[in-house]
Amino acid sequence: MRRRTIDIAFTRARVAVFIDGCFWHGCPQHRTLPASNTEWWSRKLATNTARDAVTAAHLADLGWTVVRVWEHESAVEAVERIVARMRSVAASAERVSEGSGAPEQRPLA
Ligand SMILES: [Zn+2]
Repeated sequence: MRRRTIDIAFTRARVAVFIDGCFWHGCPQHRTLPASNTEWWSRKLATNTARDAVTAAHLADLGWTVVRVWEHESAVEAVERIVARMRSVAASAERVSEGSGAPEQRPLA
């Protein structure tokens, strides 16, 4: 797999955030297809979407949680979703550490 870049990586929590452009990543609300070269664009955008899925699966295999944020989302919405995912990751890490003798994880602020 070619090298891919995570837009925001919370390495300790293993949460990977991707900020996806509505056009390039096929947002369900704003997906469009240019009027010219339609076939080429259709293939190109399908390839992007497929690559996103492969990247997400690869990161999941490595124990990462992937959060995708659409370009059209408000910053507040995006941050709320990211924080919610990080809280749930922290909560499950706490459950895993219970009984294992591992030090207690601190919940996110
Ligand atoms: Zn969109």
